[in-house]
This record gives sequence, structure tokens and C-alpha cells, in this order.
Amino acid sequence: MEIENMYKEMGISTETYAYASAIADSLSDRFKAIDEMAEHNQLKVLAAMRKNRVAEMHLAGTSGYGYNDEGRDTLEKVYADIFHTEDALVRPQIICGTHALNIALSSNLRPGDELLSPVGKPYDTMDEIIGIRPSKGSLAEYGITYAQVDLLNNKDFDYEGIKNAINERTKLVTIQRSKGYATRPSFSVKQIGELISFIKSIKPDLICMVDNCYGEFVEEIEPTDVGADLCVGSLIKNPGGGLAPCGGYIVGKKEYVEQAAYRLSSPGLGKEVGATLGTNKDFYQGLFLSPVVVSSALKGAIFAAAVYENLGFKCIPDSKEDRHDIIQAVELGTAEGLIAFCKGIQAAAPVDSYVTPEPWDMPGYDSQVIMAAGAFVQGSSIELSCDGPLREPYAAYFQGGLTWYHAKYGIMMSLEEMYKKGLVTFKA
Ligand SMILES: *Cc1c(COP(=O)(O)O)cnc(C)c1O
Repeated sequence: MEIENMYKEMGISTETYAYASAIADSLSDRFKAIDEMAEHNQLKVLAAMRKNRVAEMHLAGTSGYGYNDEGRDTLEKVYADIFHTEDALVRPQIICGTHALNIALSSNLRPGDELLSPVGKPYDTMDEIIGIRPSKGSLAEYGITYAQVDLLNNKDFDYEGIKNAINERTKLVTIQRSKGYATRPSFSVKQIGELISFIKSIKPDLICMVDNCYGEFVEEIEPTDVGADLCVGSLIKNPGGGLAPCGGYIVGKKEYVEQAAYRLSSPGLGKEVGATLGTNKDFYQGLFLSPVVVSSALKGAIFAAAVYENLGFKCIPDSKEDRHDIIQAVELGTAEGLIAFCKGIQAAAPVDSYVTPEPWDMPGYDSQVIMAAGAFVQGSSIELSCDGPLREPYAAYFQGGLTWYHAKYGIMMSLEEMYKKGLVTFKA
């Protein structure tokens, strides 16, 4: 069957198909560059697996205490080689990105220390870890203070402010690579390297940690290649490649990763324990696929930006900009637009495609939020997903796509919903 007819049978009108196809065709140069990045990172991952002699027996898991889990220990060596670090902690017991960040912070800070964010307010879920919002078990409750230096109005680092903020108690600096749900741009690895160099020139023994969520394999290098002492992320985002059913990672200097391991398990136990049950195979295979999965998500993000900016919607980043993470924001301008967009993404999902997303009052938010996700792994955001708060400017935050073709269809379905509602008109 003609591909256009297949799309038509799957709910895409002739008008939407014609418009979206022309956009997709215009992106071939950009996609070629993304394919080259994927090739680079695929080789990097493969080289680490070959060097560490990953074997069939490593794909099996342990139970109980998890002593002598060769698969787990070898996977950690593979991660350490990919990130060019001394050590790694890659575990199914790490629940999510927030948990990984909490482990890295709470294990490397002691009462009386100060934590500094030199890039403005971090991701929402960090508020309660730090105690920005009072919370049970926060760093603040343990006598660890927090300082923050916002970006300048032009979004540059406030070097003067950072210099002034660093004091004798400053122990650890947290740098968030992705913008998350903020309006600032995401940072390139190069920019992060410049910031770390500056910070180390003031206080060489400061621990520089990067929240690498959504950033893995988007560039040829990672923050640990430019001086980060610790790098932290979630396996249900990029490096899990869509296959990891849970988990998180912490890579970096041996001393700091060890601290994290003692915190995750227990003093005295550290990295020696932790059963992997059945997760090793999916962790390896997901990591192996991740560079290509991330490239699919990037293509989807760029396609979405091109589709919507051409219709007059503001897209952050725009379709031409360099990418430093997989997140795409599209400002739809109206509640109706945001809801239609999310409905389209949901309808395109492999799981729960028949479900209609509705705005709801999510705890901790001051406006209603709408979400679309039809994922194999609950909450996985390397899979095609989007969400947005129902308030000005009605931005949809869109990310993921295990395959480019699914991401493409998802965006076409979002556009079809908008088109059916009369919210977009295609230029002749
Ligand atoms: C996703 C994310 C986190 C952690 O979120 P979890 O949902 O706990 O995995 C932290 N920081 C950033 C920038 C993120 O994108």
C-alpha cells in the first residue's frame, strides 16, 4: 500500500500529510548530522562493551544480597568507560533521576557544608531534596545550606556572582544540563566545561556535579569529558534506550561514587551488594540501542519544531538551533491547542492509544496539567510523551520517541487534531 494511504487509514488527512511530508523532506541535512552523531556514540558504546568483554553470562542476574553479580559490575565498568570516569554506580535500586540526584548529593555533603547552584533554580523535584520548599529529610534538615546564583538576563553565567557565592563552606556545585521546564536554554557540554573550569580556578577541590537528565548521547562528549566530577541520570530516559524498566546511574570520581554507593545501600556494604534480578539484559541492550533511540527522539523534536514554527507557533529550541537535550517546547497559545496537541500524541501511542488525556489538578502545581503518554515503561520519557501546564503560554513539553517513525506519526496526529479543530491553517 502507498504510505500516504496507510497514514490516511491511521487518521491523517491529505492536507496534514502533504504539509508534514514537505517539512520532513526539508530536514534531510539536519538528520544526516544527527545520524553521524548516533554513529559516533554507537561506536563509543560498542567499544566499551567489547573492551570489557561483555559476555552472555553477564545478562543473567542475581537474587538476595546480590554478591558477585558479574553482570552488574561489568555494566558499571562499561558506563565508566563511556563517560571516561574512574567509577560508576548503575542500579535498578535507583528509582528515578530525582533519587539518583538525592543519593549523589546527600552522600557527598556533610552537616555544615553548602551546596551551590550556579545556573539558577534547579528542576522542581530538587526543591524538596534541598529544602527550598521545607520537606521531611531534606538537606536543610541535616544542616546543609544552599546558595543559588541566577543566570544573567542574557542567559549567560553570572561569573562575578558565582565567584562571590563560593565560600569556605561551599562543597558541591550542581549544574543542570537540560532546561527541564524552565525557559532558559539547555547548556552545551562545552559551556558546562567552561563553567567548571572557572569554578575550579576559584576552589579546585569543589565537587562539580552535573544533572545529565535528557542529555546523554545528544553530543559526542559528556560533562565528565570536560571536568565534571559526578554525572547523574535516569535509565528511563536516554541511556536506558527504552528497554531499561527502571534504574539510574551515577558516574564520576571513585571517591564520590563510593560515597554514593554507601548511601544507596549502607555504610560497610557499598557497591558489593544489590541484586539485579532480571534487569541486566535490558540495561545492556537498552544502553546498546540508546544512541540510535536518542537520535530518533532528536529527529522527532526537530520535526516538531519545524512543523509548528512554520505555522507561527514559538518553539524552544527552534528547528535550526543546536540541541543539547531531547526536550522540545511548543507554545500553543491556547488551552484548546494544548489539549488537542496532547490528544494527538496519545492517539499515536502503541499502548493506551484509545485513552483521552484530560487536564487534572496535579499535586504541587498551581494550574492544571495535561499529559500524554502511552509507554511500555511507566513514566518513561525516552518514549514519546508530552505534558504541559494549562496556563500562559500553553506550552507543550514534548520528548522522546523510540523510533523516528513513531515520533513523526505522533507529531502528525497532534497536527491533525489541531487541524480538525480549526486551530491551524496550512499555507498554500
Ligand atoms: C527528569 C529530570 C530529573 C529527575 O526526574 P525523575 O522524574 O525523578 O527521573 C531531574 N532533572 C532533570 C533536568 C530532569 O529532566
